[in-house]
Amino acid sequence: MTQHADVVVVGGGQAGLAAGYHLRRQGLDFMILDADTAPGGAWQHMWESLHLFSPAEHSSLPGRLMPAQPGETYPDAGHVVDYLTDYEKRYGLPVQHGTRVGAVRRDAGGLLVEADTGIWLAKAVISATGTWSRPFLPAVPGRSVFTGRQLHTVNYCSPADFAGQRVVVVGGGNSGAQIAADLALDGNAHVTWVTQRPPRFLPDDIDGRALFDVAAARRRALDAGRTDTGGLASLGDIVAVPPVRAARDAGLLTAKPMFSRLTASGVRWDDGSRAGADAIVWCTGFRPALSHLAPLNLRGPRGHIPTDGTRALGEARLHLLGYGDWTGPASATLIGVGRPARDAAREIAQLS
Ligand code: FAD
Repeated sequence: MTQHADVVVVGGGQAGLAAGYHLRRQGLDFMILDADTAPGGAWQHMWESLHLFSPAEHSSLPGRLMPAQPGETYPDAGHVVDYLTDYEKRYGLPVQHGTRVGAVRRDAGGLLVEADTGIWLAKAVISATGTWSRPFLPAVPGRSVFTGRQLHTVNYCSPADFAGQRVVVVGGGNSGAQIAADLALDGNAHVTWVTQRPPRFLPDDIDGRALFDVAAARRRALDAGRTDTGGLASLGDIVAVPPVRAARDAGLLTAKPMFSRLTASGVRWDDGSRAGADAIVWCTGFRPALSHLAPLNLRGPRGHIPTDGTRALGEARLHLLGYGDWTGPASATLIGVGRPARDAAREIAQLS
């Protein structure tokens, strides 16, 4: 039996919850379908030592400040899960956990949302599926030849899994720097950190608060037709969160350039030098999880769906929320997703 709603939100992480908050304020009838069996989105799967790069009061969804975590300036991932769990409950958001959406299709009456628990017909859909379920691994020669363990950021848990091992951490972004620091500070693994270009640490006094300000200023400049300031990339790539700073200052975070290939027992550089490895941790980023939207045929360059704000250019009843700056400045952050969620809900309320 097909169920009906004004709006179906696909994904119940922070972006889906922010959407729910604003859909409720618009008086719309909606359902949030979420593949995870528990609240918290990707935060429930992150590695043990991960902390936010902004203080709690700068990491809040609309309507409710994230409380401080006792003893921590930068809350850990467990604290974010608790906050999102409470947020879902406090606002009575209708989230159906353990429900995966396989496809969204056009139908005479609206958009048909095919989930593994049933079918929904909606006047509009907000896709908020994040990127965590689509880890990206680069095509590096020899990847199938290496006989050790290969894992991605999404599989990394703690240094205890690598005690006594030689580990190569690949990636010059925040995940790469934090995981390399986590392993190096623990001191029980031999770590080689590899980055495509020399690592660029942001100044120590810049954390997520400043990053959000830069993203917002960039958006204002672009909207006003002024020159692109380059956004966050103009400042650096790596937030010097306390463990990264500690490892860097102890001389434990010096990066080698990217190797040219994997061998059976490790990695090899162009100049013929080698490093043996028991494990490679690929901290090489993510792609948006959009396969459920394939039937709508909307994919543009780089696997993104072209949008105006959050609205898909090729399908006015579809909005995309979270994912990255392409769906709104800082929309893939806790503090940044509120505004695009509000705009999406307003636009949907105006659909007739
Ligand atoms: P997710 O949290 O991934 O939630 C998506 C939800 O959609 C999941 O629950 C998933 O089960 C569900 N889903 C996926 N596919 C389907 C489907 N087909 N059907 C139904 N449900 C589906 N941001 C900050 O503000 N501060 C930080 O300090 C910070 N640190 C970060 C550190 C790391 C390592 C990473 C990767 C990101 C960080 N971010 C940070 C960015 C961002 O806040 C998180 O990535 C956040 O999880 C994004 O939320 P989301 O709701 O868009 O996606």
